[in-house]
Amino acid sequence: MHNVSRVLVVSHCLLNKGVRWWWEGKPLDRNIGLANEVVAHALKYGVGLVQMPCPEFTFCGNPRPSRTKDEYERLQGFREHCERLAKSVAEQIRNLMVMGRRPQIHIIAIIGIKRSPSCAVNSAIATRNGILRQDEKGIFIESLEKELSVYCQTMPPFLEYDFDNPDELTGALEKLIM
Ligand code: SF4
Repeated sequence: MHNVSRVLVVSHCLLNKGVRWWWEGKPLDRNIGLANEVVAHALKYGVGLVQMPCPEFTFCGNPRPSRTKDEYERLQGFREHCERLAKSVAEQIRNLMVMGRRPQIHIIAIIGIKRSPSCAVNSAIATRNGILRQDEKGIFIESLEKELSVYCQTMPPFLEYDFDNPDELTGALEKLIM
């Protein structure tokens, strides 16, 4: 795709692991640096990166404990916080899609985070009726999809990055970026 500026819209912690949850006992190096593989892809293919805000850090800061999706749902005001952020991110994405006439801006994908209660695409961990499940969208991604559906006839694809298995995303990105 020539004459088109291509971008990936990514969860905040892909470019700044400092915002990931941290609590006493978790090795600090898990919260330092960025997701090298995604940045390497962007550099290799000349792709721009747009960083979304971190819903959990901007609401709870750090240290904060690891929580499941249902625990975040019970945190008063958190869903509304995600909805506010999602509205603003959806507007930003909409602007990128419609205001760039030359060069056009093409959103290759929106990349969330595997298992995150806020940013998972289809793997948020939640306890439902006493059973631990791992097949839901995160709270922020739920809101973002809803907000984006107002603007997009064709939604950009949503992918997930797994900090424990960084290469998983590589194949999917190769196909989309080539
Ligand atoms: S997954 Fe989302 S909420 Fe969690 S640290 Fe990353 S950006 Fe923040």
